[in-house]
Amino acid sequence: MKYSLVNGIKSEAFIQGRGFCPSCEKETEAKCGAKKIHHWAHKSLNHCDNWWENETEWHRNWKSLFPKEWQEVVHFDEITGEKHIADVKTDAGLVIELQNSPISSAELKSRESFYKNLIWVVNGKNFLKNLSLRNKVPSPASSLANDIGFIKGKNPHTAYFFRSEVSSVGVEIHDISEIEDKIELNYEGHHLFDWKRPRTGWFEATCRVFLDFGFQEVYELVTYDPKLNLRALRKISLDFFVKQAQESVVGL
Ligand SMILES: [Zn+2]
Repeated sequence: MKYSLVNGIKSEAFIQGRGFCPSCEKETEAKCGAKKIHHWAHKSLNHCDNWWENETEWHRNWKSLFPKEWQEVVHFDEITGEKHIADVKTDAGLVIELQNSPISSAELKSRESFYKNLIWVVNGKNFLKNLSLRNKVPSPASSLANDIGFIKGKNPHTAYFFRSEVSSVGVEIHDISEIEDKIELNYEGHHLFDWKRPRTGWFEATCRVFLDFGFQEVYELVTYDPKLNLRALRKISLDFFVKQAQESVVGL
């Protein structure tokens, strides 16, 4: 944890620091060694929150984009009595869960139903090598998206056809060069992608999932065509995403 309560004040770890966990209220001690990021650990070995991940530089960088009061917020369900520490919870109630390691689908589902107003930010660095971004596709909200069909070819080429051009005689196949202007006009950041050994757990998420590869953009995992079970990645500038999250409007 980045924070513990020291004399009732939310404090970062300091050498020989002692404090209390804001969630379970048990004693914590500061760990300020050279190897791991400075953090607080519970004095007893059992951790109060079984959803908690070991903190990394990556978690810290993301948390630091938000005010201190929004970081590591205890979230309490009055009906079940369940308590967890949200990585970030904005003052408008949007929870941002930062996920570095793979997550089981059971845990994913229980976190989504616990927090409800939740978005996921996933550290994609570990699977970046398995993921390739493919051609641009029109915004799924556009009429072009309803008309366009994809024929997967050898990478990186994808051939296209239009449903409106399908006839009893057959269908005309288009190369990207023929239709890229049309796509560009309807482009809102969506790309097809190939993902070897995909972390399929994320496909089951009902809350929005944003992949962070350490670039100046994040990539939202979206269902592009539910009938075809076709997914796309939507490229969003990191600055814009953070600004939206700070204003709690992501998801609106
Ligand atoms: Zn605790």
